[in-house]
Amino acid sequence: MIHITLTDGSVKTFEENVTPMDVAKSISEGFARNVISANFNGTTVETETLLTTDGSLILYTWNDAEGKSAFWHSSAHVLAQAVEELYPGVKLTIGPAIENGFYYDVDFGDKPISEKDFKAIEDKMLEIARGKHEFKMRSATKAEALQLYIGNPYKTELIENLEDGTITFCDHSTFTDLCRGGHIPNTGIIKAVKVLSVAGAYWRGNENNPQLTRIYGISFPKQKDLTEYLELLEEAKKRDHRKLGKELELFTFSQKVGQGLPLWLPKGAALRERLENFLKAAQKKAGYEMVVTPHIGQKELYVTSGHYAKYGADSFQPISTPKEGEEFLLKPMNCPHHCEIYNNSQWSYKDLPKRYAEFGTVYRYEQSGELHGLTRVRGFTQDDAHLFCTPDQLDAEFKNVIDLVLYVFGSLGFENFTAQVSLRDPENPDKYIGSLENWEKAENAILSATIDKGLNYTVKTGEAAFYGPKLDFMVKDALGRQWQLGTIQVDYNLPERFNLTYKGSDNELHRPVMIHRAPFGSMERFIAILLEHTAGNFPLWLMPTQAIILSISEKYEKYAEKVLNLLENDEIRALVDHRNETIGKKIREAEMQKHPYMIIIGEQEENENKITVRQHGGEDLGMISIEDFSKIIKTEISKTLKSF
Ligand SMILES: [Zn+2]
Ligand SMILES: [Zn+2]
Repeated sequence: MIHITLTDGSVKTFEENVTPMDVAKSISEGFARNVISANFNGTTVETETLLTTDGSLILYTWNDAEGKSAFWHSSAHVLAQAVEELYPGVKLTIGPAIENGFYYDVDFGDKPISEKDFKAIEDKMLEIARGKHEFKMRSATKAEALQLYIGNPYKTELIENLEDGTITFCDHSTFTDLCRGGHIPNTGIIKAVKVLSVAGAYWRGNENNPQLTRIYGISFPKQKDLTEYLELLEEAKKRDHRKLGKELELFTFSQKVGQGLPLWLPKGAALRERLENFLKAAQKKAGYEMVVTPHIGQKELYVTSGHYAKYGADSFQPISTPKEGEEFLLKPMNCPHHCEIYNNSQWSYKDLPKRYAEFGTVYRYEQSGELHGLTRVRGFTQDDAHLFCTPDQLDAEFKNVIDLVLYVFGSLGFENFTAQVSLRDPENPDKYIGSLENWEKAENAILSATIDKGLNYTVKTGEAAFYGPKLDFMVKDALGRQWQLGTIQVDYNLPERFNLTYKGSDNELHRPVMIHRAPFGSMERFIAILLEHTAGNFPLWLMPTQAIILSISEKYEKYAEKVLNLLENDEIRALVDHRNETIGKKIREAEMQKHPYMIIIGEQEENENKITVRQHGGEDLGMISIEDFSKIIKTEISKTLKSF
């Protein structure tokens, strides 16, 4: 008999050679019908794998990320089979599941496919799926594996790099693929498929290798899910921050300046400034001090911090001075600079915590193929801060930082988020720097702060960095996409490397604990996410222009200016559309620009000293006084922007 521990902690006893599916059925037939993948003792297994030892079993359904991954991994096999049947002689390479769907890289020789072939591939995939073929794993010797792929240099290369005895295949229907496992029970569960796109991809990402065709696809257990996904894709296209950034004149890129280096236009710069001022004000109240550090630093600085050893070779190379031959690096992180600021004085425990904040611009090399709008760039500004405290202050500091992050999310309309706590792997204590006692203090501080603040959280054991545990905020945007925003990270490493100290009450020198934190992360990425989340309809307090004044004809220009003045006196950001265009055209363009309020001015408005107000999206507020309009704006702002 073997003992199987389930996710709820219960232990069930079974005969040896029970399968995860048997275990699922022992829970309930209904549940078992939804189980599509399993994990036994930390390893992905098939639902039909024979279990022969005691262990922990996790059963996954479509609703779990792991379930989706197995579903899409299995679908990639079906895609490969369909492609091989439709285009005999093609050479298959690799085809993993990805965040949304899967892809397969195929060598089509000199006959690449295009969009017009998608329908045939989808039909073939569905035909295979309907066969309800089971996915079955089997082992093969290296010789057998090489035999199967004679004439396919890609699979041959993969097999050559595997150790004999570790090679496995997956069979389904008449198709076989080299595979490590992790499938759904059978193809019949795949009810809807869509080939999304094709793109060129070099074998193993190396441009000296042959170019392959990467086929992207997605599949679902229900047709309805596919329909919803495609609608979401359409909506995401409309909200693409690159498109909105252009329409709203926020930022641009110039090939002359260099790829991955955003240029902020006046409206975008004003938006950034507003975000920065918002955070600066809250940070000031939370006891932060602003610092400023240069964009470059001596190479030695990053050798000391360890960044050079880790990223040096894969990043921008040192800049050297012409005469002295000194070497400098573009700043990849602000932390080492802030450590040196801390080191400027000898602190006593009474001076701590020190909280240094900087909107610090950093530079990191990204391959040109990886660059994407504002979300993957080569130069970006972090809303960075480093807190230096005693181990006993960690608890309170962590809570304060969480409060600040929640304030930021609340003011910007991110309501749907979870916290992810990354702790060390207790089995491998040697992997981590810092004393066991301090780790326990830090982990307890994070967990108690998380619970205390009522956060919805998950714990990832073994996911902590070697230098400290952390808390990440995972935010869901309006389209249900998940983004990692806001990190709070404890660090025992840099205080060691920079020999940071404070004098304790015992008059001895002690090591402070360092916390890195950035609620936005980077200004660039944050604004991109905010654009896609709000579709450009930012919270009113953040809008570049809160109201645009449109006069029906030139006759009312004077009155328009008077209204503008009154609004400005009330700290409302407004502007007048002076152009000699029809009112219809002005309204349409104001809608496009997403100005939250349009103020229309004509004869009646001037005579009665009032304004006609129309909200973005169409709602008419009618003719009201300027004072009433100010009140409307102030009330709306106070709903999202509270004081910290
Ligand atoms: Zn597989
Ligand atoms: Zn840092």
